Amino acid sequence: MAKKVAILGSTGSIGCNALEVIAALSPAFEVTAISAHRSVDLFCRQVQTARPAVAAMTDPQAAKVCRERLGGFKGEILTGPDSLVEIASMPEVDIVVCAVVGAAGLPAALAAARAGKTLAIANKEPLVIAGELLTETARQHGATILPVDSEHSAVFQAMRSGSRAEVDKVILTASGGPFRTTAIEQMCRATVQQALNHPTWSMGPKITVDSASMMNKALEVIEAVWLFGLPVDKIDVLIHPESVVHSMVEFVDGSVIAQLGTPDMKLPIQYALTYPKRVRGVCERLRLEQLGKLTFEPPDLRKFRALALGFEVARSGGSAPVVFNAANEVAVNAFLAGRIPFGTIVELIERSLDAHTPKSRILSLDDLMAMDAWARAYTAECLVDLPKVMIRK
Ligand code: MG
Repeated sequence: MAKKVAILGSTGSIGCNALEVIAALSPAFEVTAISAHRSVDLFCRQVQTARPAVAAMTDPQAAKVCRERLGGFKGEILTGPDSLVEIASMPEVDIVVCAVVGAAGLPAALAAARAGKTLAIANKEPLVIAGELLTETARQHGATILPVDSEHSAVFQAMRSGSRAEVDKVILTASGGPFRTTAIEQMCRATVQQALNHPTWSMGPKITVDSASMMNKALEVIEAVWLFGLPVDKIDVLIHPESVVHSMVEFVDGSVIAQLGTPDMKLPIQYALTYPKRVRGVCERLRLEQLGKLTFEPPDLRKFRALALGFEVARSGGSAPVVFNAANEVAVNAFLAGRIPFGTIVELIERSLDAHTPKSRILSLDDLMAMDAWARAYTAECLVDLPKVMIRK
């Protein structure tokens, strides 16, 4: 029997790669449902190629256009924000690939966990803002959460070399992004184009800006805490510009087990689908002799303040990661829209963290969404009031 897969966020970079991987693994895997927000052209092409039973466009206007264009489509076309939850809990679906950008994917991730699915989680935000809620819901309903984020997939694979009690340290690698060697003053004034110029990975704009600020790695530290049930003190970050060693686990005896591969998301996507098996797929093979050397350096926490904040936020837990993530989403959108300089992103995050009333635990989706809404509104208010936001020199 083919494994039936639902892809939430099919028109994004992960979604497109997931469709390619599943096509290559056919007939062992098949696409049962896909969803996207409003990229109508690409979505219609995907529906025609993958022929899912259910397709959802969360934007009602875009869904209307889809229905007109896909006249001959035999399946169902859903719309509205609840359509993601509906897809994530479809009884026939075995695996839900959650690749929706930002916190918007959380209700669907929770629904997949409640339905006892295998949840291949590609967007880090649900684990960052609702780590306890999501992992606890998955435990109660027998759902499995598998990482798709390349670093966490690497850690997950390396973890198979020993028991959890034998793990001394998880070392998350980071490319360092486009500003690794840029002076801090210059980085703070960077343009959108410069921030989007990632040296090794090809990804969507939000995560590419997060990589440039190293906010992405900060979110990944919090993600690792929940995925692997580790205290934050056991997590380290190491800059590795070649993005070939995807992460490592250091065991108590001093052995370090790393996972290597070309920088291609198809490999971690495929591993989450076929786990615990490995099969031949579509990924290019790693040729170390062509690379010659791999380099490593410690991250500059003074320059990449988002990363330093990430460790603090991971330690605080509770409401801090919710505010950290929401403020960043608003700030990154403002940066992409040309409203603020690059250096102001982290300023806005810091201001929101300072202004919020911390809660030590958040155990309901309503409380979480209220905190998320507060942080978004507060950050938006700061944006209106920009002269008050000091850009540190
Ligand atoms: Mg990653």
